[in-house]
Order: sequence, then C-alpha cells, then structure tokens
Amino acid sequence: MQTWNELEEVQPLASKIMMNSLKRNRVSHAYLLQGSRGTGKKSFALLLAMTLLCEQPEQIEPCQTCNTCKRILTGNHPDVHWIEPDGRTIRNEQIDLLRKEFVYTGLETSKKIYIISGAEALTVNAANRILKFLEEPGMDTTAILLTNNGQSIIPTIRSRCQIIDLQPLDESAFQNRLIQLEEVSINENNARLLSALTNNIDDAVQYHEEGIIYDVRDVVTQLIYELLVRYEERYLFVHQKWLPQLKERKDQELGLDLLIIAIKDIVHFQLGRESHTFLFQSGDGLLQKAVSQFTQKRLLQMLKNLLHARQKMNQNIHPTLVMEQLVLQF
Ligand SMILES: [Zn+2]
Repeated sequence: MQTWNELEEVQPLASKIMMNSLKRNRVSHAYLLQGSRGTGKKSFALLLAMTLLCEQPEQIEPCQTCNTCKRILTGNHPDVHWIEPDGRTIRNEQIDLLRKEFVYTGLETSKKIYIISGAEALTVNAANRILKFLEEPGMDTTAILLTNNGQSIIPTIRSRCQIIDLQPLDESAFQNRLIQLEEVSINENNARLLSALTNNIDDAVQYHEEGIIYDVRDVVTQLIYELLVRYEERYLFVHQKWLPQLKERKDQELGLDLLIIAIKDIVHFQLGRESHTFLFQSGDGLLQKAVSQFTQKRLLQMLKNLLHARQKMNQNIHPTLVMEQLVLQF
C-alpha cells in the first residue's frame, strides 16, 4: 500500500490537494474521485480511510500496521463500508440498508466512511438519499465516491462533493515503477508490454505473476510471422497453435488485445515513433519485416477487423469462430 508521499509521485495534483486538507484538518464530508480505470481510485480511497481512522498516524501518514489499518486493508473494518453497484444501478434498497445500519449504530461516536464505487450507477433517488443522510448534523461521516465517468454524475452530487481528478499515469513513469518494484523482478521489455495493458501496478504485477501474458505474446508474434512468411498457413495456424495454446476464453481475449497492440506497434514504427512500441523491441527483425511488408491501409483494415473480433468475443461468440473469420479477413 502506498503512502501519501509515494502517491504524490504518480498523482501529484490529487495527492497535494488531499495532503493539504489533511494537514489543515479540513476534510470534506464527501469526495468524488474521478479518473479512468487503473488510475488508483480504490487505493486512494483506502489510503484516505486509513488516514482518517488510524490509531497511531505519523502526522498525516497512516501507520499501515495497527489493527485498524489492517482491517481496512483487508476490507474488514466495521466503520468502513463499501457500496458496489448491484448490476447496473445502485438501488434505493442498498442505500436504505446503509441508512438503517447507520441509525442503529448511530449512538456510537465513531467516525464512519462510505466508499461508493461505480458512483455513476447511482440513481437520482439513491443519490439524494445518500446526500441527505450525509448532511444530517452531528454525523461524523465521510463519503468517498469513485467513478470512471465523472460526466455522468448528476449535478446535485457533483456540487456537494469535493472533486478530485486522478490522471492516467504517464507510460514511462509507470514502466519505471514496475522495473523498480522490489517484490518482483520485471525487466524493461516486460514492463513495456504490461504498460500497454494497464496502468494499475497491482494489475500489472498480477499479469506478470500469472505469466500467461508472455506465452500469449509468443503466440501473437508467431501469428504475425505466419502472416508475413507463410500466409497460406494462417488458418491452419489458428487450429494448430492459437486455439490449443490459448485454452481459456480470457486467454483468447488477451490474445486479441496483444494482437491489437502488436499491429499498433507496427503502425507507430512506420510513422517513425519508435519509442512507442510495446510488444516489439525496436531492433526486432520481425518488426522490421512487418514495417516494410504491410501497407498502412492494410494495417488499418487489420485493426478494424481486430476491434470487431474483440467485440464479438465480448458478445460471447465462440472463440474458434471469431478467430477463423479474423484470419481469413487478414
Ligand atoms: Zn494505523
């Protein structure tokens, strides 16, 4: 878990705002953290919750080792409540349940924290209920709303929250952080690939530890080789290599994602943006071959077909069918 000082390196503005209000002891009763996936909204919320409740903070940094901090980190603290959308919306009943719980334990003086993820899923009604009970006098409550899509948060909520923007991480800063991690050893090539898929450290470490991503990268480069050198064999390749090696649906999806990254690499390389490759290394012979052999028109068509295939995969169409159609279109 990061500290505020560490967070400041990756989210300078957001951490500075938060650190200032913590230092001046002026914490709002409601925050809206907005930022795309992977910008660290949940970590930010957890850190804030720990800061507000820690038994032995050092100035504004929570100790991360006391009982309270540990329980918050493992999601087991009775005064820190997570609300997740139930399907597509956060329903009134979910809020009413909270409200009830709140009233029953209301005699305690303890501070309560509500973390509402997917806040764009709040219905107007549910949102109003939340705001109402948050603003009741005498309640020592902090609400932290998280959203990928700040635009779809209704104005009544926006106007009552302090809004904190989390910026997407700069790619090279993210790669450096991965390389510098002490608990795992990630080399530069792998860091580049990981940074193309996520800018969340935990997700990247998980990809790395599962390892399948590197096998998928091998299959993807083999497919590109087939397209360049043994074009007539591409359909066979799907059945002999691609499908048998990428067994699960999520591996198939990852395969398409990496193939999209590979084709984008080739496009960037053709445009002279060599530092913008994620799957290939810049001296890679296969990349050189692809750059000279594929026209830009063909690459853009491939990308179009790939995005379409990715959609079909989301719609639960069988991977075999998706891949067969895709390579025939290539
Ligand atoms: Zn603590």
